[in-house]
Amino acid sequence: MENRKIIVAIDGYSSTGKSSFAKIIAQKMGYVYIDTGALYRAITYFAYTNGFIDNGRNINEEWLKQTIGHIRLCFKTSESDGRCNIYLNGANVERNIRKMEISEKVSQVAALPFVREYVDKILKRYGKERGVVMDGRDIGTAVFPDAELKIFMVASARVRAERRYREIVQSGGKESFEQVLENLKKRDYMDEHRSVAPLVKADDALLLDNSNMTIQDQLDWLKEILKVRFNIDITI
Ligand code: C5P
Repeated sequence: MENRKIIVAIDGYSSTGKSSFAKIIAQKMGYVYIDTGALYRAITYFAYTNGFIDNGRNINEEWLKQTIGHIRLCFKTSESDGRCNIYLNGANVERNIRKMEISEKVSQVAALPFVREYVDKILKRYGKERGVVMDGRDIGTAVFPDAELKIFMVASARVRAERRYREIVQSGGKESFEQVLENLKKRDYMDEHRSVAPLVKADDALLLDNSNMTIQDQLDWLKEILKVRFNIDITI
């Protein structure tokens, strides 16, 4: 079997650990990692900070549609800690896009067809040469339906909210556990029920329920799949 470059599409619910898993896989495979949610978050941040989402969360769609072509988004690796950060019109917004006010609005922005179209174009450019690991909601169904390896990650809402809450506390956030759980459930609902590219497992995606798995268990699982299906060896 030839050792060709592939696309690894990792989709699934919020806070299932997709990005941590995807980052490690990319590093082990020597691939580029793309956090597709960061693009939707950055667009939401742009709309929010420019006053185009009000507190009742109404979006000025017409304005966003006219302006979206001027939003420049790219990923750059930080020289100090090797982490990948997202840049919006030249500014590093990696931390700002993770705040609760953005989490509360992002699924609504991500449901807009012209926003998805814009992000899709960016993602297709990143995936052109293959050799990428992308995590998101619709990578294996809409962006790269021809991805060679598709993984769909799930875990119970409570387990996910506990993980997310721990991260928030560590980074000094003030949200309560109940707020975090509520936000996750709302986003799940919106992601599953939007009309364009809803969150759904692709028929040919492998299901990974990591409710009771460590990251090591998940890597062991993946190592076997890469070896058997693609003749790709990774050291764990
Ligand atoms: O992955 P993350 O939780 O940061 O994504 C934020 C939001 O962006 C999701 O809740 C979802 O609404 C949207 N998203 C999406 N399609 C993707 C990635 C993220 O709709 N491929």
